[in-house]
Amino acid sequence: MASGRLNTGEAHSFLRREGWLRAVLDLVSVAVVLAEPGHGEVLFANRAAHEMAGGRFPFARSFAEYVEVYRLYDASGRPLAQHEYPAVRAIRGEVIEGVEFAWRLPDRTRRVLVSARRFDAMYGRPPVVILIFQDLTANEQARAVLRSFEQRMALFFRRNPLAAIVWNPALEVVEWNESASRMFGWSADEARGRHGSFILPESEREYIVCDVWQGLLRRTSGERSTNENVTRDGRRILCEWYNTPLFDESGQVIGVASLVEDVTSQRHAEAERARLYREAQEAVRVRDDFLASASHQLRTPLTPLLLRLEVLRRTLGDPAACRQVDRALASAHRLECLVNDLLDVPHIAAGTLALARAPADLRLLVGEALAPFRDVSARHTIVYEPPPAPVVAAVDRARLEQVVASLVENAIKYSPTGGEVRVSVTASAGTARIEVVDHGIGIPVDQQPILFERHFRGRNAPHESYAGFGLGLYISSAIVERHGGRIFVESEPGRGSTFVVELPLAPPPCGLDDMP
Ligand code: ADP
Repeated sequence: MASGRLNTGEAHSFLRREGWLRAVLDLVSVAVVLAEPGHGEVLFANRAAHEMAGGRFPFARSFAEYVEVYRLYDASGRPLAQHEYPAVRAIRGEVIEGVEFAWRLPDRTRRVLVSARRFDAMYGRPPVVILIFQDLTANEQARAVLRSFEQRMALFFRRNPLAAIVWNPALEVVEWNESASRMFGWSADEARGRHGSFILPESEREYIVCDVWQGLLRRTSGERSTNENVTRDGRRILCEWYNTPLFDESGQVIGVASLVEDVTSQRHAEAERARLYREAQEAVRVRDDFLASASHQLRTPLTPLLLRLEVLRRTLGDPAACRQVDRALASAHRLECLVNDLLDVPHIAAGTLALARAPADLRLLVGEALAPFRDVSARHTIVYEPPPAPVVAAVDRARLEQVVASLVENAIKYSPTGGEVRVSVTASAGTARIEVVDHGIGIPVDQQPILFERHFRGRNAPHESYAGFGLGLYISSAIVERHGGRIFVESEPGRGSTFVVELPLAPPPCGLDDMP
């Protein structure tokens, strides 16, 4: 060695004395190790070196111990011979700058970048070899994380079903994915470097380049826009743009990332839907107008017809002829009900259904509403046991009778095999309750929420035998709601239905028994 035989004791005492040097080296984040160049004894390792060793940095006392104590391997995985150790080479006078080694520790192997150099004695300080270790393992892990993130980002960019484009601040294409190629017809190679105006129609260029783009760079607008674009073959498409300005660390805009969706067919479909909706509304209006005028026309001859039949019925003596007239009267009444239903519809829709309310005992009212049904069907029995006490509510008698009649008529119609239809009136907690129970076909569960809608007809209703307008329940629910009550159903398909009407009770006036 150039400086001759080295004095280890001198080096030790020097380091002891230079406590400040140790303190400074402990502050450094790279691992620093000092060895005396005579025998290669390691004299000092800073805090970062101990940490890198996973506890305490092993202090070899001579070159001979290096192989056993440190176990270094070169980049190809070959164990280093003693003379190849960085400290040994540095003592020989080599300057080692950033050579990569694998350092096998008891619990793991670290990749380290080693720099080493010998410093001869100077200014009263003994000669020393300084080794600096940089841990590459952590860097490698960070690089691996970064790599996988970059791969995912690249995949996200490439495979995105939306067109993904990255622009530089001069509005030139930097990145252009496959969907962008499909959408605009230009390949990535053709698009890269081109100014954005190549996908803008002439008429839009100034507005987009001056207003939208500048607003985007200043972050004042343009993050989402819908505008026309033009494809390579000259087609005009409507696109929805989602633009995100990209910044560097100092906050400077370095570009813009855009995701673009071609909404042309979507918008066409929306416009088509809107047109169909308008047409459907118009058709409904025409239908309603027709029904309103047709029902008025039907009503005009119906009233005198009913009157004449009733007069005829009173004057006829022959029972067989009476039965014929009764049947004709029943049919004419049925027709009258249907026409009345049709006439009610526009009033319900406009919320102008008029009610003439007065307190009435629902026990009697229901009894009267049931009277016409007594002889209606040989297969059905209508059971009604009025409660002992009056149940008084402020109602429009005719309208409420209409509701009860409609529910009972349905109970009969939709119990084709006959059976009992049970009607009851009860009162509790300020509410009157009328129930109509049948054991008929019931109502499919999924259709129950739309049961009271206009023109509803159940999927399971035998349409051929009972033609109807699907208005009875719609009108009933409107009447009940106008009374401040509610109507609902409990039904199980195949087992029957219970229709319930609830109305607010009125305080009973004096002389109830005389009440109509
Ligand atoms: P319509 O009976 O003229 O069709 P409604 O408004 O009175 O009109 O009834 C609408 C639909 O509700 C009927 O077509 C039928 O499917 C169903 N429905 C009404 N009442 C019953 C019932 N008691 N049992 C089974 N289904 C019923």
